[in-house]
Amino acid sequence: MTFLMNIDCPHCEKNYQILMTSIAGLCILPCFECNQPIIVFFGRCLALDSDFFLWSISRKKQAVIKLITAIMEELLENIFGGKSGPIKPEEVINFNRELGELDDPNKFGQVFGRPRD
Ligand SMILES: [Zn+2]
Repeated sequence: MTFLMNIDCPHCEKNYQILMTSIAGLCILPCFECNQPIIVFFGRCLALDSDFFLWSISRKKQAVIKLITAIMEELLENIFGGKSGPIKPEEVINFNRELGELDDPNKFGQVFGRPRD
């Protein structure tokens, strides 16, 4: 199963969608707009250093492991009731954007499927 995921580039703030096969999927790619490296994992899009693609494989691995570990720690804190903290401004922005998309039949269909005729 695939789905379209909204991306807000942390470098240039351009918003677009990419096709993912799983919410837990890992995707490292250059931004389609500014060409800076980004990492997408568990519904998050984070910036990588601008020279990431020039690094050695081992340095790339270490950087990605560090980011994935931070994301997983945050997710586990949310699941197991760790310090959840206040709602972040970007969460409010994403919520408002997604709320506005509920009335768009195409967006609704992408998330919940198309109605049968
Ligand atoms: Zn960008």
